[in-house]
Amino acid sequence: MDNQLKDFIIPVFIPHAGCPNKCVFCNQNSVTGIQNKIPSQEELSRIITSFLNYKGKNRGRVQIGFYGGNFLGLGIDKIEQLLCVAAKYVTDGLVDSIRFSTRPDTIDNNKLDFLKNFPVSTIELGVQSMDDSVLAQARRGHTSSDTKNAVDLLKKKSFNIGLQMMIGLPGDDESRSVSTAWRISELSPDFVRIYPTVVLAGSPLAGLYKKGKYVPLSLEEGVSITKKAYLVFRENNIRVIRMGLQATDDLREGTSILAGPYHPAFGHLVYSEIFLDNIIGVLKSESVLPEEITIRVHPASVSRLRGLKNGNIGKIKRLFDIKSVRVVPDLSLTPDGFLMKSKT
Ligand code: SF4
Repeated sequence: MDNQLKDFIIPVFIPHAGCPNKCVFCNQNSVTGIQNKIPSQEELSRIITSFLNYKGKNRGRVQIGFYGGNFLGLGIDKIEQLLCVAAKYVTDGLVDSIRFSTRPDTIDNNKLDFLKNFPVSTIELGVQSMDDSVLAQARRGHTSSDTKNAVDLLKKKSFNIGLQMMIGLPGDDESRSVSTAWRISELSPDFVRIYPTVVLAGSPLAGLYKKGKYVPLSLEEGVSITKKAYLVFRENNIRVIRMGLQATDDLREGTSILAGPYHPAFGHLVYSEIFLDNIIGVLKSESVLPEEITIRVHPASVSRLRGLKNGNIGKIKRLFDIKSVRVVPDLSLTPDGFLMKSKT
């Protein structure tokens, strides 16, 4: 958690474009909720211009982001066409830079040299796991060494690097996920995203799930494992900019997800569980259990501390037989911290 101004990202979805692969969990049309493929130059201009109308004042960098496909897997002509349109907005001072996501095995020196002709600042890699047996079972078609090599090349060319990992893939478990978080931390990315695996209709995983060959994580397990991975990144001072799938309309209606730990406020659940763990830790160390407690917390973290529907408050009261739990906003605290006062 931090107080930095949020970047304003104009998302341009290129579902499954540039990708020869069929990862076991992927049905890009379900993820993006868009059936079209790559936008034409005119369509791209329309998308960018219309999003710019929604740009508020208190924003960080403005970026155009190409998501949902394998950007560097597009033909060089197509990449150039898209980047030329996007770059014009940077030249005109309306946008600060460009970002995109791509597979680790699409990064090479030639492509990175070509990108240096454009204002591309940030590249995100779909790492998913640093365990080669999990990658093989997910049919990713690349290994953890591809990721390491890609990150080395991106660092040499001074790109901002985002790494995306998944939890709950076939063959994965808590210790493998935590180990992936550590190995990603060793690569020192600028930020990470953590996605729990869900079973999307139309994905190969849906077939395995229906045959009973894949059992998804429950929401509780998904939150708990994500929390452990998040804490590894926090310990290593690596920003986690997202936990859980983006709530597009398609996902909210529940039409595309067959099973798995999806929740529209997944990240909130993770942060809430961290507060709950920490408060339980403090209360367990008290020699005499209090009747009333007051918890001071940064105003931005009040709802995280309370938990969904005040769930954390209810649990604290039940577990420790506490009559009253007061939550008081306190701007002097960091968003992760809290101060507890007890009355016996
Ligand atoms: S590489 Fe990305 S777009 Fe391609 S199949 Fe895998 S998840 Fe889908």
